[in-house]
Formats: sequence, structure tokens, C-alpha cells
Amino acid sequence: MNTPLILQVNRLHKNYGATPVLRGINLDVRAGELISVIGPSGSGKSTLLRCCNRMEEASGGEILVEGHDISHARGKTLNQLRLRLGMVFQSFNLYPHLTVKGNVTLALRKVKKFDATSADQLALAALECVGMAHKADARPSQLSGGQQQRVGIARAIALEPAMILFDEPTSALDPEMVDGVLEVMRELRASGMTMMVVTHEMSFAQAASDRVIFMDQGVIVEQGTPAQIFGAPTQPRTAAFISRSA
Ligand code: ADP
Ligand code: MG
Repeated sequence: MNTPLILQVNRLHKNYGATPVLRGINLDVRAGELISVIGPSGSGKSTLLRCCNRMEEASGGEILVEGHDISHARGKTLNQLRLRLGMVFQSFNLYPHLTVKGNVTLALRKVKKFDATSADQLALAALECVGMAHKADARPSQLSGGQQQRVGIARAIALEPAMILFDEPTSALDPEMVDGVLEVMRELRASGMTMMVVTHEMSFAQAASDRVIFMDQGVIVEQGTPAQIFGAPTQPRTAAFISRSA
């Protein structure tokens, strides 16, 4: 793929105290790619995602968003670059006292300074994308976990990011809710959204990704197409993880 670079991670290091958690991550994501990040618990997947938008401060290295250095950005520039990266987490973190539409319009109004009419239009379009427009006036507590996560995805879409980073978006869901959320993610990919997805859903990683990254102990052990990683891994640690997850 030779589309523009959306995210560049160069020599990223992260320590918690004396403990190295990321040990030199290099990673490029191009427009339109869906990258799955797999690996054992504790391998640094969430930390990698959180460093990308500076929810965590890296200990070393640099991160570029659409060619702009977010790792040293401050103030307004940092906030603008952060807005280019949508985040979707395992726990949806919707505000219980706001409606579905209120949750999606909040950042549009407070951060992007849209007026109410424009924010509502963008929110409804985003809710339409995830099949939740009919619940615009419901409260989060009236929705299933899968529906809440779809609203979480709509909230990210509405901000029109360059890319969305997902951290185990289906891990907190009842099994019967997982497919609906994965389907929304597949549709998002088909619409051209650039995505990096930390996931334990191996069949999704295999079927929906352009590239799969296997992390262990703070490094990228191996990356390649799904066929390479799932069919013919070259590293013993990858092979062992894949066979355990099958
Ligand atoms: P993963 O998402 O792959 O399960 P994480 O990125 O959450 O891994 O964690 C990587 C390592 O960093 C783990 O050993 C974890 O215990 C440690 N870690 C994560 N967050 C913190 C923190 N806030 N303080 C100290 N250690 C942390
Ligand atoms: Mg994690």
C-alpha cells in the first residue's frame, strides 16, 4: 500500500519506573490500512496505543501523526494532533447522565466548537454508520454492552479522525454482542477508515487485517500479512502464541 503515512512510531521506548515496557517500537500505518495488534497479556499493546496520543508519556523515541511530531507537541498543537487519533476502549466510558446523542456531540461542541445544529448533524451521521441512530435519545443504561460500544465508536467517528485506535473493543462484551461490534468495524474499514486494533479476536485479525503485528515483552516480534502471521510465522514465539489462541 502506498497511501500517505498516517502514523509513524520511531524507536518508541516506555519505562514504568525501572521496568521497560516498550523497548524500541517501530511502526508505520498508512491511510486505509487496518492493522491488528496481537500478543500475550502484559506485552505492551495498550501502552503502545496510549503513547500514540500521549495519554502516556513515552520515555524515548518519537511519534508522528500525519507527519507532525505529536511526541514533543504542547498546548493547542497537541490537542489538535490528539483529535486526529480516535480512541475506542474496552470500557466504553459513556456519560450515564447524557443521551446517546449527547455523548457523541459533547466533544464536537466543547472541543471542536461546533454549534448545536452542526454537532447534531455530525452525531446523527456517525450514529447512522454504527446502526444506532434510532437510539439517539436513549440513555447508555438502556443499551446493551454491544450497543454502548457502537456508540463509543460513533463518538470517535464523529470527530472525523485520521485514524481510530481500538484497545480490545470487544473484550468486555457478552459473546453474543461481539459480532455486531466487529461488523461495524469491518464496515468502517470498507469505508476507508485507517485503524489499529488490539484484539484477541483471532478470526477477525485474520480475516479483516491488512497487516498483523505480534508483540511480546515490549517489542514487535514479527509482523506481516494475516497469511504470513497465521499461516507461516517465522518466529517461535509467534507460532506458540498462534497455536495457543487457535
Ligand atoms: P497489554 O495491553 O499488552 O496487556 P500493557 O501495555 O497494559 O500490556 O502493560 C504492559 C506492561 O506494563 C505490563 O507489565 C503492565 O503490568 C505494565 N504497566 C501498565 N501500565 C502500568 C502503570 N500505569 N504502572 C506500572 N506498570 C504498568
Ligand atoms: Mg491491554
